[in-house]
Amino acid sequence: MPRPIQATIHTEALRHNLAQVRQTAPDARIWAVVKANAYGHGIERVFEAFSGADGFALLDLDEAQRMRHLGWRGPILLLEGVFEQRDLELCSRLNLWHTVHCEAQIDMLAMHKTNVPQRVFLKMNSGMNRLGFTPERYRAAWTRLNALPQVDEISLMTHFSDADGTKGIAEQMARFNEATQDLPGERALSNSAATLRHAGLASDWVRPGIALYGSAPDFPEHSADHWGLQPGMTLESKIIATQALTAGASVGYGSSFTAEAPMRIGVVACGYADGYPRHCSTGTPVLVAGVRTRMVGRVSMDMITVDLTPLPSAGMGSEVTLWGRSAIGATLSIDQVAQAGGTVGYELMCALAARVPVVTR
Ligand SMILES: *Cc1c(COP(=O)(O)O)cnc(C)c1O
Repeated sequence: MPRPIQATIHTEALRHNLAQVRQTAPDARIWAVVKANAYGHGIERVFEAFSGADGFALLDLDEAQRMRHLGWRGPILLLEGVFEQRDLELCSRLNLWHTVHCEAQIDMLAMHKTNVPQRVFLKMNSGMNRLGFTPERYRAAWTRLNALPQVDEISLMTHFSDADGTKGIAEQMARFNEATQDLPGERALSNSAATLRHAGLASDWVRPGIALYGSAPDFPEHSADHWGLQPGMTLESKIIATQALTAGASVGYGSSFTAEAPMRIGVVACGYADGYPRHCSTGTPVLVAGVRTRMVGRVSMDMITVDLTPLPSAGMGSEVTLWGRSAIGATLSIDQVAQAGGTVGYELMCALAARVPVVTR
């Protein structure tokens, strides 16, 4: 028997999440963001569930190629644009739309030999200070692009730094609106947090990522349940041993957990080499046979240990849900596990290790 750990990608849940986002932004077209191998889920595994999206947004040219291999003929957007001149040839060959965030990318376009002009998304740095033209330089970039025979339609794009928090999007929106006032072109503004929390925003295109995979972009203020999102991924394993601890006995490396009274613990075949966050420690929620209990002690490479006090009948072979949905339908949000490890659901999904077998259901 293989080691019992397994990840499951839930096609129906992914489809549901897309429909949920669609409901929140009924007039917008949706880029399903599938960068980082669909946030760790696998582009090939999510393709069918997201095929109702209006386009796919990603970063890597090889991921764009995989989308075309899957038969997707609709829009694909490169969120960071091209990295070097010859990438534009692939854009022409595969009909990829691309972000333009700097002068060097306009230079490359100006030198590109093509008879078919390309659709571009001109990015404004409205305050995030990663990619894009400042509001002051945005119009000049637009004018330069607009004069190029290599360029077809120009869409206007920005990205929010605080759509999930109290600062919100007002300042960035004010800068964006002022600088783009009379410029033609579609607007592409919202990530998941902006789509869900600022639903009134007029964005012709929205760019949800995390919400599609069933994680709340603004956890813990809101949960995935609050937004009507379902887990797109389950990570599950089994108990491969149990131990009876006497009072005063400790568990695992560093003896970081000590039993106050006699208790039973289960040893689970899942560790940080599977992508379980090592910064999780005693108290991190976990489901055993669908019942919520807690991790105890440190995460090691291949194992964690869990408190079996609420589960007298659990033992060797009992199902353990690290995040996602258990066999009896109980769910444990990836956001809660991430929080216990001092991180976000995004990182856990993306870090699912290559050694974990994945099935689609
Ligand atoms: C990753 C990304 C998104 C999606 O963000 P989520 O928070 O996952 O919804 C949207 N836009 C850009 C430019 C991105 O890089």
